[in-house]
Amino acid sequence: MSKGEDVQGTILILDGVSTNRIMLKVQLSAAYYHVVQADGLAGLSALVRRTRPDLIVTAMSLPDGDALDLRALLAADAHLAAIPVIAITPQNDRAARLRVLAAGIDDVLSHPLDDVILQARIRSLIRARSSAEDLRLQGGASRALGLAEPAVGFVAAPLRQARVALVTQTAATGAVWRARLKKQTAHQLDIYQMGDMHALLGEPTHDAIVIELPATRAEPGSGVENGAGLRLLADLRARATTRTAAVIAIPNPANPHLAAEALDRGAHDVLPGGFCTEELILRLDAQLRHKAQADQLRDNVHNGLRAAVLDPMTGLYNRRYALPRLAHIARQAVEKHTCFAVMLADLDHFKHINDRFGHPAGDAVLVETAHRLLGALRPDDMIARVGGEEFLIVMPATSQESAVAAADRLCSRINRSPYFVPGQDQPIDVTISIGVVVSPQLTSQVPTGCEQATARMITQADRALYEAKDAGRNQVTLIRPAA
Ligand code: GH3
Ligand code: MG
Ligand code: MG
Repeated sequence: MSKGEDVQGTILILDGVSTNRIMLKVQLSAAYYHVVQADGLAGLSALVRRTRPDLIVTAMSLPDGDALDLRALLAADAHLAAIPVIAITPQNDRAARLRVLAAGIDDVLSHPLDDVILQARIRSLIRARSSAEDLRLQGGASRALGLAEPAVGFVAAPLRQARVALVTQTAATGAVWRARLKKQTAHQLDIYQMGDMHALLGEPTHDAIVIELPATRAEPGSGVENGAGLRLLADLRARATTRTAAVIAIPNPANPHLAAEALDRGAHDVLPGGFCTEELILRLDAQLRHKAQADQLRDNVHNGLRAAVLDPMTGLYNRRYALPRLAHIARQAVEKHTCFAVMLADLDHFKHINDRFGHPAGDAVLVETAHRLLGALRPDDMIARVGGEEFLIVMPATSQESAVAAADRLCSRINRSPYFVPGQDQPIDVTISIGVVVSPQLTSQVPTGCEQATARMITQADRALYEAKDAGRNQVTLIRPAA
């Protein structure tokens, strides 16, 4: 099959035995995966870099190493480290499974391979990887929007003491699970019963949620819906309070097919063989690591977006933020039948300040100006740096008289005392000119016309500013808009 649009992803099969590779390839190709094959570790890095698989399925032992060597080889290369790996063991051997999970391999399956389970696991791992990829892209995009902030590396955050919820059918099961886990982890373990979930769903406090999946005894015609655990999984994904928690489902008793269904319903990981303390701890740690990375990526996106709307020098909003914000204030004014003021303030003869005291002193004057102006505004007012030495100020719920009074106050905040800036012995006298326009009560405006109305007001404020400069600077001019 060629790598076309209908392909779900690329999977690399790594096995020294060609018949194993062929059988697996048939199975995966039938599920619309593009399959790449290799028989050992030699030359594998180059192949992986070239084919960029979404996931690797490897035999436990290889002609020139084993699955653990593969994990180490991928971990050594930042571009390959996040590729999920499933190891296949010859038989269901608990010790081997724990060793493989401890090495950071995502899952272990054993021969004979159950297609339903294999496919569910592959889907879940590829899904997890692509959502991490999405977050990384969003982080990059928000940086590209506004900043030259260096990309934060995708480093595994250290494990911390996590808060883990254990959701079980009965309190007795919860108590047994907690007692066993307590001996081997420092995590805080809270028990919830499946019928009493309000406290869990209401609090955004858990890093991980472990859910017992009781046997589903579908009784035909009974009308009783089984699978409370499965339904809860969907609920956890949907709620804001639990959406980012790592979710691990444990069929009790062991039930690989129920586990596969849980993966498809959004569980991040499952214990198909039922509760096993060591295995749960390993899987929990892996999921908490993934979660810490995802949280860090989300923070990067958030910080990137913040930085994209702020002027790095003064910390004021920039033009990109200010214009939509102004339109929003205008819409609110229409709704509330109030007036609002738009001002453009521009430092006088700022070029002279730069020429006389140097550019760094000019920068310090800008920062101090931002500080003085901000200190004279109300919490609801908005100020942005919209040009080199030009500021846009918007005051909601403000009449013409109070707008002019406020602008006069801003003017005197700047001119009433000289600036002392680092590196300059001499104080610097600074003045500012301000053009003011106040909206008519925009009662007749439809809210959708606000963008044009605000653009018009900015032009008018600019004209007022020009008049203030023309009249000698260091003053306020009000323009009365045509109704
Ligand atoms: P006017 O009173 O007519 O506004 O005169 P002006 O000198 O303030 O205005 P003009 O537009 O001629 O010059 C603005 C100067 O602001 C020119 C530019 O080099 C300087 N400038 C713009 N951005 C910055 C900045 O970030 N830092 C510094 N130090 N100077 C800047
Ligand atoms: Mg100026
Ligand atoms: Mg200017």
